[in-house]
Amino acid sequence: MTSIRLPRTVVPRRYQIRIEPDLTAGTFVGDETIEVAVGEPTAEVVLNAADLTIAAADIENGAGRRLAATIRVDEAAERVLLRFVEPLQPGPWRLTLSFAGILNDKLRGFYRSRFTAGDGSAATLAVTQFEATDARRAFPCWDEPAFKAVFQVTLVVHEALAVVSNTAVASVRRIPEHGKRAVAFAPTIPMSTYLLAFVVGPLEPTDAVQADGIPIRVWAVPGKGHLGSFALEVAEFSLRFFREYFAVAYPGDKLDLIAIPDFAFGAMENLGAITFRETALLVDQGSATHAELARVAHVVAHEIAHMWFGDLVTMAWWNGLWLNEAFATFMEVLAVDAWKPAWERWDNFGVSRAAAFLTDGLRSSRPIEFAVEAPADAEAMFDVLTYEKGGAVLRMLEQYLGPEVFRDGVRKYLIAHQFSNAETTDLWQALGSASGQPIPEMMDGWIFRQGFPLVTVEAEGAGETVCFRQRPFRYLAGGGDPMSPWLVPITYRARVRGDIMHGRLLLSTGDGRVDFPGKPDWLVANEGGHGFYRVQYGRTLLAPLLHAPAETLAPIERFSLVSDAWAATVAGTQPATDFLDLTVRFRHETDRHVWTSLVASFGYLWRVVPADLRPGLEALVRDRLREATRRLGWSSRGEESELQRELRGELLRAMGTLGNDPGVQREARERYAREGTAETSDPNVRAAVIAITAYAGGETEYQDFLARFKAATTPQGEQRYLRALAGFRTPELIRRTLQLCLCGEVRTQDAPFVVRDLLLSVHGREPAWAFVKEHWEEMERLYPSQSGLRRLCEGITGLATPALEADVRSFFGSRAVSFGGKTLEQYLEQLQVAVRFRERETAALRVYLAQA
Ligand SMILES: [Zn+2]
Repeated sequence: MTSIRLPRTVVPRRYQIRIEPDLTAGTFVGDETIEVAVGEPTAEVVLNAADLTIAAADIENGAGRRLAATIRVDEAAERVLLRFVEPLQPGPWRLTLSFAGILNDKLRGFYRSRFTAGDGSAATLAVTQFEATDARRAFPCWDEPAFKAVFQVTLVVHEALAVVSNTAVASVRRIPEHGKRAVAFAPTIPMSTYLLAFVVGPLEPTDAVQADGIPIRVWAVPGKGHLGSFALEVAEFSLRFFREYFAVAYPGDKLDLIAIPDFAFGAMENLGAITFRETALLVDQGSATHAELARVAHVVAHEIAHMWFGDLVTMAWWNGLWLNEAFATFMEVLAVDAWKPAWERWDNFGVSRAAAFLTDGLRSSRPIEFAVEAPADAEAMFDVLTYEKGGAVLRMLEQYLGPEVFRDGVRKYLIAHQFSNAETTDLWQALGSASGQPIPEMMDGWIFRQGFPLVTVEAEGAGETVCFRQRPFRYLAGGGDPMSPWLVPITYRARVRGDIMHGRLLLSTGDGRVDFPGKPDWLVANEGGHGFYRVQYGRTLLAPLLHAPAETLAPIERFSLVSDAWAATVAGTQPATDFLDLTVRFRHETDRHVWTSLVASFGYLWRVVPADLRPGLEALVRDRLREATRRLGWSSRGEESELQRELRGELLRAMGTLGNDPGVQREARERYAREGTAETSDPNVRAAVIAITAYAGGETEYQDFLARFKAATTPQGEQRYLRALAGFRTPELIRRTLQLCLCGEVRTQDAPFVVRDLLLSVHGREPAWAFVKEHWEEMERLYPSQSGLRRLCEGITGLATPALEADVRSFFGSRAVSFGGKTLEQYLEQLQVAVRFRERETAALRVYLAQA
């Protein structure tokens, strides 16, 4: 097989592209002139194309030498080979091609998105999604990130349709005889093909807000524009924040944020024309939960961070994708935290870090960065290790170097590589020169090795010496644990003889010791929670932490204590009953994120324990949550923070579902019946009421939810009722929800999530799994190719019985399924971990829960 990478003999400098889509027929035609530089004599030009018909191609130089090409298409390699009768001499040439293609329904390349217009008629958009390698489905191009070029796009569209691309409109020429207009956009900066975008259809913009002279608008289908004001606020803040942080001007001439009804991912950072799924951009501030607002803020900030990190400076090849995404993840939290400090987003990031630990503790994890041969392998990089682990290790580094030193390094990096491409090592070099520290040595273990350390902390001798010892954390033993230690920046805080002491230790070998002037009353490791490692305390150090007043530890430290203890439980190094004893200490907990960790562990137990243990587990959940739910009640009070409101919703929901509490269920159903569509409750309570009503409800509520899902006026309302359909427990209603996921009632971008929810529920998992097996091929055909089934199959981690596990293995063993990389192996290993947990802990839990 020929090399995956295109030859560099001929490189593009500037594309002039003209495309005319036919939204009704689902086709497009186009032509382009590409200014190329020929580096050495060659009679062949190779570029990418897929699913395109290329009608003609010729090339011409400045001297008027013009050669027609013979065109050979290699469908498998997604390439087109142009051969000329004589070698092209080095120098500038102009390559001209004309082509035609289809607007597909697979949410990639140039595709169609459909929606119902206000008057009930069917409407269509034509939208692009090019990352990673689908620009070649819209026009022949050098579709690799290192081939940066200037793009001048012209779109020929019907008069009535809006059209958006990366830059401002340069000119409009009417073509009255066809009822069309040709809209020419200004040239872009030199950039990669995967960042080009065009969107055509009946969209409407908001008024522009200005940030540093850059107009920002939100585009949506008619009737939804008013849901863009929150995103505009975030965007305005973020654009200014990043310009200041990076000390580099925004690299575009305008910024459009475009909500697309059918979208495979969360959002896409096309320079100046960012596309989003509707839930990630459009939101009604009055009726949204805190989590829904925070999601919009994060996605918007994330994509805007990419305008610099990713768009202005781009990875040279797909192995660098992790840095692109990890950095945008880090910056998104930094920006939203600066915007809304009361939202405590770095504490919330602890939840994301825990999600990365979950995958990275598997034998089938992978290093953050790995060699990528085929671009298809890059698609496996869009996972929790790239985003959350990557973001977490950058945060750890930032905290270790100091925020200003880190920022200075980032500035150097952007200036040195703007309008061009860079490698991970280029960032390390810039950070090294800003900090004077050996960055690659520090970072290599975190980037090029899978896994993370478990740091055990134990008192030695008379207790005045504390030993920190690292070893790889694994849920399942074996798998060839590498022995070389990580460079772990340990932070700790201790109280010794009445004084609070803060300390740091760079653990470079297996262990390290700290001598204190006396025996610490207590000691907390990973102070501030920024380290990408888990902590396990010896008994003499754990007891004082559990008995100290709650405020001794910061909320993120209490979160880590619970999260680390739960990880040890799942890994089998601590009995589940010890963990449940520990949860008793948190009955009075007030922090929202600590509760997230506790509730998630109860949810895991719910999926893992046999059915006859569930009533005991429900009783335990009620016992642990009672005090906090009573304190918060059902109604918000004026004084409290947004996080307290969110906590109220989360605890009520857990009480009414995991706790199966009849009183909470009764109250929820009464409220639901009383409020109707008035939605007068706090939105966080409202969302909980819907989830509980589904869990406790039947046919009547189901009908009602289905109708409200279809009639919803906000993306969040739509999602809330849709996802609630997966919460009903009767087999007939579960079957109906599954059917909705195939019949076109639920968008293919959403259906995989609904099926996943059912697989993760003890009531839905068996019928959902049978349904998945029966309709696998159909789902493969219908759902978005890169992301749909991968999302759906996350649900198999909930099939936590030995019989289901065996069935899952035989199903995937008998067919060639790949979601890229090791995703499927990771799901299967998580399932194995859960089933082992069940087999190991059931007997002890049966006794323990009977007494709960
Ligand atoms: Zn991103």
